[in-house]
Amino acid sequence: QAKLAGKGRFQLFDPEHDRSMRSLHRELDRVEQGLDKSEFFLLYQPKVNMRSGELIGAEALLRWQHPELGLLLPGQYLPFIEGHSLMETLGDWVLREALAQAAKWHQAGLEIPVSVNISARQLHQLDLAGRIEELLKLYPELPSGRLELEVLETGALEDLALVTDLLNTCVRMGVSVSLDDFGTGYSSLTYLKRLPASTVKVDQSFVQDVLDAPEDFKILLGILGMARAFERQVIAEGVETIEHGKLLLRLGCEFGQGFGIAKPMPAESLPAWYQEWRPPPSWAELSPIPSN
Ligand code: C2E
Ligand code: MG
Ligand code: MG
Ligand code: MG
Repeated sequence: QAKLAGKGRFQLFDPEHDRSMRSLHRELDRVEQGLDKSEFFLLYQPKVNMRSGELIGAEALLRWQHPELGLLLPGQYLPFIEGHSLMETLGDWVLREALAQAAKWHQAGLEIPVSVNISARQLHQLDLAGRIEELLKLYPELPSGRLELEVLETGALEDLALVTDLLNTCVRMGVSVSLDDFGTGYSSLTYLKRLPASTVKVDQSFVQDVLDAPEDFKILLGILGMARAFERQVIAEGVETIEHGKLLLRLGCEFGQGFGIAKPMPAESLPAWYQEWRPPPSWAELSPIPSN
């Protein structure tokens, strides 16, 4: 009906819109119930030093075991939650859960920093820094540096001054910040300049095709150079194969994360994975090509 009306025609009542709003509300209700019923859980993906094999962190990635739809990835439900205060509730759950996990690992003698993805909505939440401080107090044995916030580069930051303040407060508490999906947004350089991020995560889109796309190779070189100039650490996402790792190491990027190293896994599997995992021998031999 709405489609037939054509472009530019004004309609007082759009049945399709009404239907989708109703189903959105249903879905938001489902998320709330899902939280109550523990349908959400986190997987952890290792971040490593590709040369030494050292585990440098683990990124918490949200999953939803939906009773009817099965296992859902964040891309399937976060976009519609992002516009709703429920995102703050869910984000808070993720922070709590990830910190509890870091504390468990700490107890077991595994000192692994956890990285938590923070959505743009959460970054505009006024009490976020206070909330993080509260959560860290629950685990006084855990150094605050054990928490890293991954800030989405594409998450349009409406109020950059406010977000900068918020992140500065977090950094003063000892929490670290990284710029996620770096290079994909329109404000990469502004964010690099303004936000107190110690690490830049090169978006996987530039890494995946780098072996056969000269443009992506140039972008990767540019990002690495920029990160060096700003004295930020760089980690590459999307290290899918040994060849990707080789090229990155050649370019002087030692830190990596990707299916070629490990897929996201349950927290319980991570210690055993780390016991077993060794970088491919060809990685250890590579020395970086001196830049200029
Ligand atoms: P991200 O933060 O950039 O996370 C990396 C995504 O790439 C993850 O997808 C991961 O499973 C996937 N990945 C890792 N290595 C490889 C690889 O080698 N190849 C390919 N093709 N993919 C790889 P996932 O778990 O579906 O998450 C997608 C995005 O959803 C995340 O991107 C992040 O922006 C968001 N997200 C995930 N968990 C949370 C959360 O707890 N809170 C918020 N706000 N966002 C989250
Ligand atoms: Mg991330
Ligand atoms: Mg990313
Ligand atoms: Mg991403």
